[in-house]
Amino acid sequence: MSLTNGQYSGEELDGFPIFSLDCEFIGKSFEKADLKRMSEDRLFVGLDRDGTIVPIYSDQSLALVDDRVRKIINQLTKLPQTTVSIVSARSAERLKKDYYSAEAILAGNYGLEVYFPDDTAVIQKEALEALPLLRSLRQLIADELESTLPICLDDHVLSLCLHYHLVPEHEQQIVHQKVSAFAKQFTGLQFRALPTSYEVLPPFDWSKGHSLSVIAQRLGLDDGKTCFLFIGDSEADEAAFQWCNEAGGISILVNSREVEGSAAKYRVHSPGQVLAFLQYLSGSRQ
Ligand SMILES: [Mg+2]
Repeated sequence: MSLTNGQYSGEELDGFPIFSLDCEFIGKSFEKADLKRMSEDRLFVGLDRDGTIVPIYSDQSLALVDDRVRKIINQLTKLPQTTVSIVSARSAERLKKDYYSAEAILAGNYGLEVYFPDDTAVIQKEALEALPLLRSLRQLIADELESTLPICLDDHVLSLCLHYHLVPEHEQQIVHQKVSAFAKQFTGLQFRALPTSYEVLPPFDWSKGHSLSVIAQRLGLDDGKTCFLFIGDSEADEAAFQWCNEAGGISILVNSREVEGSAAKYRVHSPGQVLAFLQYLSGSRQ
């Protein structure tokens, strides 16, 4: 399927320099049955944030939701039989600052905390129990690493993410050694090594797939009559792709290259294409 028709022309996206203007999908085209379900069925749209609706920046302060993305998400939330959720590693508090429509479900910390439009929330009890440990570790990282090295520590409250991409290569070993020592000290937390960061999470099995289960159950969307769609760009989104696939839904990976082993059924190559796709989706459900 191509989105390079008049409705989604470069003109419409003009002045949006952070996004690619090339809206033509690469990879597989959408199957007719999926297009039909996306336009006609009750639809759940799950969206990762960073790398999916916001381009990746090494300077986190630049990673903001563009007005056009916010506008299209807000339009989607107002359509009948359409539910939209942002499912991100960032805290729900941070997602609230993105100022989506009040109808958008905000699932922070991979959905360990989910805030619904009716002002209710589902927060995993075990995650809350890990709070004192996370706070102690946060202080140790500040004292022993942040004070001497250019690390960036994202405090998502229910998880921490320590980025070390700005640390000179010859000093990165210090980060690895410190984190290894922290992991031995804080056995009640889960440490996860990512390419240029470490994530620290509550010590139980959790993923964005679990988060989709929570949302589907809470909203009664788990009756087999909803088309679940999830768009994400990283390993952390694979569980959500799998969950959607198992529910007979649609999964879309954002990556300019083929990713071996990804469960995603479709692929787009940039957040710009995600925006174009969401515009298409909104138009098809009017
Ligand atoms: Mg992402």
